[in-house]
Amino acid sequence: MSQTDQKKGYAYEADGDVYYRARKFARYGELSNKKVDELEQGASQHVADEETARKEDPIDFALWKAAKPGEISWDSPWGAGRPGWHIECSVMSTTLLGKTIDIHGGGQDLEFPHHENEIAQSEAETGQKFVNYWMHNGFVTIGEDDEKMSKSLGNFITVHDIVKTVDPQVLRFLMASTQYRRPIRYSEAGLKEAERNLERLKIARDAVSYRLKNAAAGTDAALEAKLNGLENDFVAAMDDDINVQNGLAVVYELAKLMNETAAANTVAQTTLQHMLAKQAAWLAIFGIAFKQDLLDADVEALIKARNDARAAKDFAKSDEIRDELQAQGILLEDTAQGTRWRRK
Ligand SMILES: [Zn+2]
Repeated sequence: MSQTDQKKGYAYEADGDVYYRARKFARYGELSNKKVDELEQGASQHVADEETARKEDPIDFALWKAAKPGEISWDSPWGAGRPGWHIECSVMSTTLLGKTIDIHGGGQDLEFPHHENEIAQSEAETGQKFVNYWMHNGFVTIGEDDEKMSKSLGNFITVHDIVKTVDPQVLRFLMASTQYRRPIRYSEAGLKEAERNLERLKIARDAVSYRLKNAAAGTDAALEAKLNGLENDFVAAMDDDINVQNGLAVVYELAKLMNETAAANTVAQTTLQHMLAKQAAWLAIFGIAFKQDLLDADVEALIKARNDARAAKDFAKSDEIRDELQAQGILLEDTAQGTRWRRK
């Protein structure tokens, strides 16, 4: 906001407040697909408060508010006051990122009026397109009625609490499995499903990793062609406004191909490596990275170190090693014949 806006006729002063003439901006309502006349009707149904009385038109919004006695305020050409909350975003983004920003994110509830107002005031000021792409995310919902999870409704569960019992990657996978504009449905069943799906992908990874040991050198042209086809499908899905449902469908197809390949009589080493690399790269987009499993030799070396620590009566150290192994899914059992171990 500036005095320039006032000169251009977009802004006007009223008793120390400054308002924006929403109607003057021809594209007002375009982002949220609202018609100015309908907004007008909605706004005029509200009980007229002090602010509305000061506005020329009920759909106008504040750029600057005069300070009430005792309020924190800054000096301005219109007297002491504070910026309206929409203007803060326009000022920060144009100052730090330039007149046009490529991607602007935000919750769906901010599309109107907040983002609509950001566009109106920024474009009036700069004469340039404010944002190339708006990405509005859906809410996290909970329960059978898909109620929005919110602090005020008291129906929320914190990430902190969830990850006490659930692998954080499972929670991340659940959330990443929904296209960002859609509501994320949180439920125990959803978490279980995400866990099973991740497990399926990990099994495919392990199967191919295992076959690397006895693979023949070289590539398999037919499989490479299939891999390239899958990659094209994956990229096309993700380029379509991050259509993760379709993107993940390709990830599961890759897993199927990996399982089939791992079961084949002969396998080509380089192609197996390509499969592993593609799976890792695609999953990384969803924030998923499988832990590099400990090899048997690593486990045995750690068990020996633990036994040495126990022999030296360094129980703190031996417990530490046991916990470390447990965190990697390795369970120990001390028997009369020595320490046995298995994978969880
Ligand atoms: Zn904002």
